[in-house]
Amino acid sequence: MAEKRDYYDVLGVNKNASAAELKEAYKRLAKKFHPDVSKEPHAEEKFKEANEAYSVLSDAEKKANYDRFGFAGPGGAGFGGAGFGGFQGADFDFDSLFGNLGGFGFGDLFGEAFGGGRRRPRGPVQGDPIKVEVSLSFEEAAFGATKEIEVERHEACEACGGSGSKGGERTACGKCRGSGMVQHVQRTAFGLFSTTSPCHACQGKGSVARDVCLKCRGHGKVNAVRKIQVKVPPGVWTGNHLRLTSEGNAGERGGRPGDLFVVLFVEPHDVFRRDGADVYCKVPLGFAEAALGAEIEVPTLEGRARLKVPPGTQTGTVFRLKGKGVKELDSNRFGDEYVKVFVKVPEKLGKEERELLERLAELDGKNLRDDSLLGKFKRKFGG
Ligand SMILES: [Zn+2]
Ligand SMILES: [Zn+2]
Repeated sequence: MAEKRDYYDVLGVNKNASAAELKEAYKRLAKKFHPDVSKEPHAEEKFKEANEAYSVLSDAEKKANYDRFGFAGPGGAGFGGAGFGGFQGADFDFDSLFGNLGGFGFGDLFGEAFGGGRRRPRGPVQGDPIKVEVSLSFEEAAFGATKEIEVERHEACEACGGSGSKGGERTACGKCRGSGMVQHVQRTAFGLFSTTSPCHACQGKGSVARDVCLKCRGHGKVNAVRKIQVKVPPGVWTGNHLRLTSEGNAGERGGRPGDLFVVLFVEPHDVFRRDGADVYCKVPLGFAEAALGAEIEVPTLEGRARLKVPPGTQTGTVFRLKGKGVKELDSNRFGDEYVKVFVKVPEKLGKEERELLERLAELDGKNLRDDSLLGKFKRKFGG
């Protein structure tokens, strides 16, 4: 058997290569030298060589041993024996490894096998975010408001400073020997795979309370209900959300709390409808007012305003009140108000009104139809 090559040389990486670089290098070689497809000379040997190098360098403990002792290993046991190699057997399944048979691809295999190692279970972890919905009146959305909301969240226990232990003292977890992770070795068709997962005994913390805090029962966190003031800016609308930094659930191992998201819902209004920064309303007009023109009172978000309606205004005419809408969310501009008038026909008439209208009808209604509608019929049919 030829002299063994250095594992780093085999993979073509330097000693400081990251886990991702090692994996990338290995994947490239595995594809190039796979004995089932490769036309390269000595493909099988090279494939095994790459496989062995990667199986050692991808394992923190074996890598450390290799870096210190070389091939001999600490007890002279050596590497690359039957225990490690995997892939040397005749029964591995090329399609499963590289292809997509049954949805089981290369990426899945490695994601599962090495994904656990990529997380840093002992570093700080930010807390979970919280989402709260808040209803606003139409006016609150238009002008802005301060709302008080109630939030249920996990907070670090004050009694033990979040440590879960009276006096804050913790000792290394016996189950995982303080690492927070436990290792499982799995034998598969492709060889041995080592996976790690958080330790159940200490929830991945690596340590347990020396003297369990009675207030949080060792969790380091307590449930709390807080009232929080939320400042809603003018111009918001349904679906907009506000983000309150670090007002969510407490983090782990010194990580900051998650954020609080306040999702807004704007209630409809009796008079106004809104589209962006513009508001819309409908206002009735007497038909004498419509015919003669008038100055009428109309509602606006800030109270009443006067609107001049010219003589001969038809039902459905829209008037614009500039700047009477809502402030735009991200600027200092205001939208407009659009007033749509409709001519209202009276349903009950007093005596005087009736007489005046009868007189008007004689002058007005017949002329109207003679001139337009019926006139055309007369010409057409000779009536
Ligand atoms: Zn543990
Ligand atoms: Zn506590």
